[in-house]
Amino acid sequence: MESTIISTNTQQSIELENKYGAHNYHPLPVVLSRGEGVYVWDVEGKRYYDFLSAYSAVNQGHCHPKIVQVMIEQAQKFTLSSRAFYNEELGKYEKYITDFFGYDKVLPMNTGVEAVETAIKLCRKWAYEVKGISSNKAKIIVVEGNFHGRTIGVISFSSDPDSTSGFGPYMPGYITIPYDDLNALAEALKDKDVAGFLVEPIQGEAGVYVPKDGYLSAAYALCKEANVLFIGDEIQTGLARTGKMLACDHENVRPDILILGKALSGGTMPVSAVLADDAIMLTIKPGQHGSTFGGNPLACKVAIASLNVLEEEKLADNAQRLGEILRTELRKLNPALIQLVRGKGLLNAIVVNTYNGKDAWDFCIALKENGLLAKPTHGDKIRFAPPLIITEEQLWECINIIKKTVDAF
Ligand code: PLP
Repeated sequence: MESTIISTNTQQSIELENKYGAHNYHPLPVVLSRGEGVYVWDVEGKRYYDFLSAYSAVNQGHCHPKIVQVMIEQAQKFTLSSRAFYNEELGKYEKYITDFFGYDKVLPMNTGVEAVETAIKLCRKWAYEVKGISSNKAKIIVVEGNFHGRTIGVISFSSDPDSTSGFGPYMPGYITIPYDDLNALAEALKDKDVAGFLVEPIQGEAGVYVPKDGYLSAAYALCKEANVLFIGDEIQTGLARTGKMLACDHENVRPDILILGKALSGGTMPVSAVLADDAIMLTIKPGQHGSTFGGNPLACKVAIASLNVLEEEKLADNAQRLGEILRTELRKLNPALIQLVRGKGLLNAIVVNTYNGKDAWDFCIALKENGLLAKPTHGDKIRFAPPLIITEEQLWECINIIKKTVDAF
């Protein structure tokens, strides 16, 4: 598949992972050892532009000095209290993030999928205690092609066979409809047991599917009419990635339940959050949900610093402006190879045709040789999502690397 010559250091690291690690990923043959801003370096000392940004977790750039400084200071002072006690940082963080996004309350978690599970539990609790749905009857509408994580609960409503095959039985309580289809949503909402509609404003993992303009706002209005909670999974699209602080902001939609993760820590540690107003959030009582690490003082400080950087460095504006340039230039490339370009802000994907017997994987290997790291998803799609701190000059350098690679195919 790949003709790259792999050196000893690289080979040894790959062999260790192969021998001792589960084979649940298929990485590109590059072993990274350092990151700074838009760059990562491999164990041979070669520098690359990072065009994946750890699936949008390093929007602020690798090892952002302000985030890392806060992290070091707090790590030397206090990292974990357990929620059996109050901690000095949690309340300050809760005030900061709820002011930042305009919600009454936040429930802090760690990974993205845990926050999704939390949102689902919250929605179900609200269904029984506020909406009045009969016990154990609540349903949540989801869409085809969704990606919300990997737990049994969450894969139960995935439509991707890689995520689901061999992992049954699955959890009930979901209705799947096509993405970007308001008629299907309106039809599904007729079911009186529906409590929520869970959606990614842009489908990231599926290959950056951007719905039609007006989809989110119309979907939100339909949910309101049916007294159904609109649950926005902004784990990948949020935090400035698509050119606004939240992708829902493009259509002035305020999700009833907002889910954040990834860049909430600038890629330094797992920090996720679920935001909602009191009528929803206060349905969960002490002892009904939680996590050992959720709301730990280290995460609280790091999350404040990470949000601060997004705002201070105007990263949403940068993503908006540079995203336009990137898509314009990508659309000029050979259409025999680059079939399609789509995206918003700096969350973009190209769809690559098999060309001269070479596919998207080979194209990513060639990009790597030329100093830019990206990874195919679902065979023929490649996400182009650099850290949002990228400068215009750096972006042009990347565009030239991509052009050169396309020309050489
Ligand atoms: N939701 C969305 C939209 C995601 O893109 C992801 C991860 O890619 C997740 C949830 C799961 O997050 P995590 O891998 O942190 O559990």
